[in-house]
Amino acid sequence: MNRESLNIVVVGHVDHGKSTLIGRLLFDTDSLPQGAIEKVKRISKEKGKDFEYAYLLDAFEEEQKQGITIDTTRLQFKTDKRDYVIIDAPGHKEFLKNMISGAASAEAAILMVDANEGIQEQSKRHGYILSLLGIQKVYVAVNKMDLVDYSEERYSEVRKDFDRFLNTLGVYPIKYIPVSAFYGDNIAEKSEKMPWYNGESILDAIDSLEKEKGLEEKSLRFPIQDIYKFDHRRIIAGRIESGSLKVGDEIVILPSNKTTKVKSIEYWVEKDKKEEVSAGMSVGIIVEDEFFYKRGEIISHKDDIPVVTDTFGGNLFWLGKNDLEKGKKYKLKLSTLEIECEIAKIDKVIDASTLETIENGERVKKNDVAEITIKTKEPIALDEFKNIQSTGRFVLVDDLDVSGGGIITRGSSFEVEKK
Ligand code: GDP
Repeated sequence: MNRESLNIVVVGHVDHGKSTLIGRLLFDTDSLPQGAIEKVKRISKEKGKDFEYAYLLDAFEEEQKQGITIDTTRLQFKTDKRDYVIIDAPGHKEFLKNMISGAASAEAAILMVDANEGIQEQSKRHGYILSLLGIQKVYVAVNKMDLVDYSEERYSEVRKDFDRFLNTLGVYPIKYIPVSAFYGDNIAEKSEKMPWYNGESILDAIDSLEKEKGLEEKSLRFPIQDIYKFDHRRIIAGRIESGSLKVGDEIVILPSNKTTKVKSIEYWVEKDKKEEVSAGMSVGIIVEDEFFYKRGEIISHKDDIPVVTDTFGGNLFWLGKNDLEKGKKYKLKLSTLEIECEIAKIDKVIDASTLETIENGERVKKNDVAEITIKTKEPIALDEFKNIQSTGRFVLVDDLDVSGGGIITRGSSFEVEKK
């Protein structure tokens, strides 16, 4: 039987203990490859330090350089209940970008905050990104409790502070957990050093999470990735992002607005034909009528279509070297689509750590958040993020560089011309 797997991301201010927590989780669940601990001992010594769990990630990176394939962007550990994939190691240059672009799609998050230092700008910013990405399953680990003598008072103080900030963003953490990642307190086992804490350890807490069900039960969204020609047939290929699709279904391809029926479906993994496929599967379909359609168009069922528009509003997180500017042109990526767009309006710029806002801005600086209106060169198919996530998030490319991304908050169709 296939074991359930859950994607989790660990975020928080630098040095608040993300790598240590990850190292500890891998260690406590016996998920380390052979020799890893020896390697960490050696690296710790080379750096003139005591043993550091955080160096486990360095040890993995070293192996990667030597051509051994441990993917530090997808570290795994297991509990009795299921497999966990920690997506994207913190500290990676691309970490925030991957989160924003959805390259790393997290189902739950652990937000780390140092009990000694308290909330920092980056803690807030990461909280903001979680809210932006619609990640609701958030745990806050109040770390380094050993440095504050496992004090309940200090824990409550940090918790209260952070709660106030996160709640203004609409992030309501499922649980706060006082931990010492370094000493393993409340990580895999409940710690005896904090008798005042009645809650669960990190592992028990994430194990008690119920996985969100049913992307397959949502509306069908099948973005076209490629069109292959075999003999006289054309195969439309891509990944079903949500919903399901059957032979004989009546489908519409947007924005070109063509309606047709599914004649057959190929499922690449089993190199076989299938009558029905669903979310997560990469497939090829043959349709009854052959038109001209292209990469980036979205296939859906006729009675449940995406929005088609050339103007939409979104919440954006900007990471670019250069400021985002009103009136400037960027490349927009939305699922498999790439198209030129212009920033029509910067409705609001928000300092992600103080939540100060400026209305009607001209530019957005690195690490700031904004509500913007984007106009694409031609109409495109999209969804509001709250309805469908995969076709409701976008990325902006500036000068070949992924510089920002966000979610679509406002999008409504105008009548597309029938062809
Ligand atoms: P990251 O930048 O968030 O990944 O932070 P690291 O995991 O690299 O940790 C930064 C420093 O804090 C390292 O020296 C860790 O050993 C230390 N550290 C992490 N967790 C704890 C903890 O629970 N207690 C103490 N005393 N130090 C910790």
